[in-house]
Amino acid sequence: ASSRSTPEIPSRSAPPRIAVVGSLNMDIVLRVPRAPGAGETVMADSLHHIPGGKGGNQAVACARQGAHVHLLGRVGHDAHGAALRAALDADAIDHAGVQTDPEAPTGVACITVESTAQNRIVVVGGANARFEIDAQALDTALQGASSLLLQFEVPMPQVMAAARQAHQQGCPVVLNPSPMQPIPDALWPLVDTLVANEVEAALFADCDVQTPEDAAHAARLLRARGPRQVVVTLGAAGAVACDGNGCRHHLGLRVDAVDTTAAGDTFLGALTVALARGESLDLAVQTGVRAAALCVTRPGAQPSIPTRAEVAASPMPPEWSRIV
Ligand code: AMP
Repeated sequence: ASSRSTPEIPSRSAPPRIAVVGSLNMDIVLRVPRAPGAGETVMADSLHHIPGGKGGNQAVACARQGAHVHLLGRVGHDAHGAALRAALDADAIDHAGVQTDPEAPTGVACITVESTAQNRIVVVGGANARFEIDAQALDTALQGASSLLLQFEVPMPQVMAAARQAHQQGCPVVLNPSPMQPIPDALWPLVDTLVANEVEAALFADCDVQTPEDAAHAARLLRARGPRQVVVTLGAAGAVACDGNGCRHHLGLRVDAVDTTAAGDTFLGALTVALARGESLDLAVQTGVRAAALCVTRPGAQPSIPTRAEVAASPMPPEWSRIV
């Protein structure tokens, strides 16, 4: 045994702080052999209530990557709202900025998942549709935050107000323009990082997005509108990252997908926290791809989101990016 004293363990750097403004939904998930056509009834194999909503999912994705997360949103004064808050507590997410609506119910997403892992989603906005930015609560959430994450499941004027305040306070905005709707002209210059899927990128850039080359073309057009960096996700085909140094395609990982719900949100959270830790855009996208690949192998929204340790232990292909 050594007589030398134990070397001091270096103090671990403080966790990155992330603010999220967005929706909270209770997902009612039906596993079906196939989705019903118009006028048709099919029998589901199972029914589950699972915490979800894009804001909640992205908050959980950031927290499981080790970030300290403040979430602003709105739930109803009901059992679903209480269950969603309990789920946030389990991930140590600060939800003091989540409002309780005295009348509107908690948002609900009705999701069918087919045996092919294809999902179909109908969302009832409920309390999310009545969310209003509380400038004081957002100010608290933005203190020391590396970024503010925004999506489109709360009303656009509130998204705009949050983006403006973050911009004024010098906090970079990460926008996930989903569910798809047009991005207001005034929002573009407030966005630092845009993360869109291929369908959204095609709409915003007004071009076809089928291949990684198409995605790079769209990303260049979108960058010209304001965002410093643009990422276009391509489902199983991975993602294209575009910044001032050009565009790179990062391949998806080959996995047996069982449910793609929350894949995009998992990607967003992992990417955002990696950027907050000072990683390059490419490394952050690769972390996002690895996290999302784990997510699609598990059923449900929030329960399927992996931890940082799980992502670190997951496989990486030897060669997986190229300039596009
Ligand atoms: P999407 O929103 O469908 O473009 O998916 C977001 C990210 O999740 C993609 O960029 C991939 O990294 C990952 N992903 C989605 N679907 C799959 C899949 N079937 N297999 C592997 N990774 C996937």
